[in-house]
Amino acid sequence: MTSWDRRSPAQLAAGQRRGVRTQVVDAVAPFSPWWRARLDDLGIAPDSAATPEGLRRLPAAGERDVCPDGDPRGAAALVLQAGEGGYALHADGPRLRKALRRRLVRPGSYRAQVDADTRPSSYVWAGLGLRFPVASTRSDLDLVARAGARLWQVLGLHSSDVVVAALPAGERTALAQALELGALAAGTPALFTGAEGDQLARALALLPASVLVLPAGSAARLLQEVHQAGADLGAVSTVLLAGTPSAGERADVEEVLGRTCRTDPAVLAVHVPDGHRLAWGECREGRAETGLHTYPDLELLDVVDPESAAPAESEGGELVLTQLGLRGTALLRWRTGDLVGAVETTACPACRRTVPRVSGAAAGALVPELALRSGMRAVDLRAVAAAVAGRPDVQDWRAVVGRSGRDGCEELLVLVAQRDGSDAADVAVGVARDVRAVAGLLPTQVVLLPRGGLPAAGRTASGRLLLRH
Ligand SMILES: [Zn+2]
Repeated sequence: MTSWDRRSPAQLAAGQRRGVRTQVVDAVAPFSPWWRARLDDLGIAPDSAATPEGLRRLPAAGERDVCPDGDPRGAAALVLQAGEGGYALHADGPRLRKALRRRLVRPGSYRAQVDADTRPSSYVWAGLGLRFPVASTRSDLDLVARAGARLWQVLGLHSSDVVVAALPAGERTALAQALELGALAAGTPALFTGAEGDQLARALALLPASVLVLPAGSAARLLQEVHQAGADLGAVSTVLLAGTPSAGERADVEEVLGRTCRTDPAVLAVHVPDGHRLAWGECREGRAETGLHTYPDLELLDVVDPESAAPAESEGGELVLTQLGLRGTALLRWRTGDLVGAVETTACPACRRTVPRVSGAAAGALVPELALRSGMRAVDLRAVAAAVAGRPDVQDWRAVVGRSGRDGCEELLVLVAQRDGSDAADVAVGVARDVRAVAGLLPTQVVLLPRGGLPAAGRTASGRLLLRH
């Protein structure tokens, strides 16, 4: 069998075809209450959604679809719920044969096998506008660990490395879980310290770290702080930025490293899209240039228009993913809230791996966390778009996120050009009411403008969703 990262397009396509069929027919359609109801509502038979093309015809869904009233308890319906009987009906052949063989030898171990494949045994927090737990079975954790060993190859890490990760303590995230299991699978020792400078400095005083994991947004500041605290960075050969660092954040990190570290470490991003459990990384050979390397046998990627969730007409848009092989909270055509520039499927020009690469990613950009006058709020711009788009009294619109010139607070403006014959006050009230119903908050202001007065549809975020800071 060709190695996971050297397969030909034909081999990858055949593997994905098998993976989609198993995931949809044997796992998600029979055992996910939410997806079973969804397919029913759409009048789609599981079989017809069980090919890559059939799957692509399903509308993408995200947290607001699963929890339409904003109650995160809705996300529990994504978790696969299979009993012993259901397992025998739907487990794929090799797994079922293994389980049945075990039942003959040791009666209790059939149940153990069914449990390992179906029962959640661990949770991490996810969600952008809402917070909800994402479940993994024991088999899922095996898969996360195996993907982690692949991540180590992509990042160019070895068992001789020592990882010190300054990730926020408290809320366990999919990225922390993926790095921890990846380190275990690769035989690399790893210490998770918490995201404060003094916590990191204490760890660095005691361990000869060769790999630092730092949140992308605070990495430069943390490096500066531990340098001032006298930490020795002389053994550091890799700095992993957790999330999707902007060009400015990377430049700041490189600048601090240039002053404080003699070893010229590789600076690479690692990222888990929201809801997912596998971590993607940039390859050591291509660094920031060739995008996040993904796992084509374990996930199917697509890009949709963030305003409508329809297939994107340009290369960029919102990243949508289908998990292949993961159970627990199993996701089909999941809207990650990440904006991406493109998903490239040609072999990586730097490392030659034949895996899809996600370039120009901005994590969670479609659900920005805003410091509004009423406090911190995650604002789901996809929901704002859904509330305004298609209104019969609205001719065109923009949703603008920016900072108020008056007091520096962030604000959400909905700019609307009304249709001829509609009443201005009715339009303003109706838009505000619908945004609150769908997105869970009132816009700071609804502004009525003549059509020519709307700002140009921009490239900052996506078409009519404009992020201005
Ligand atoms: Zn590469």
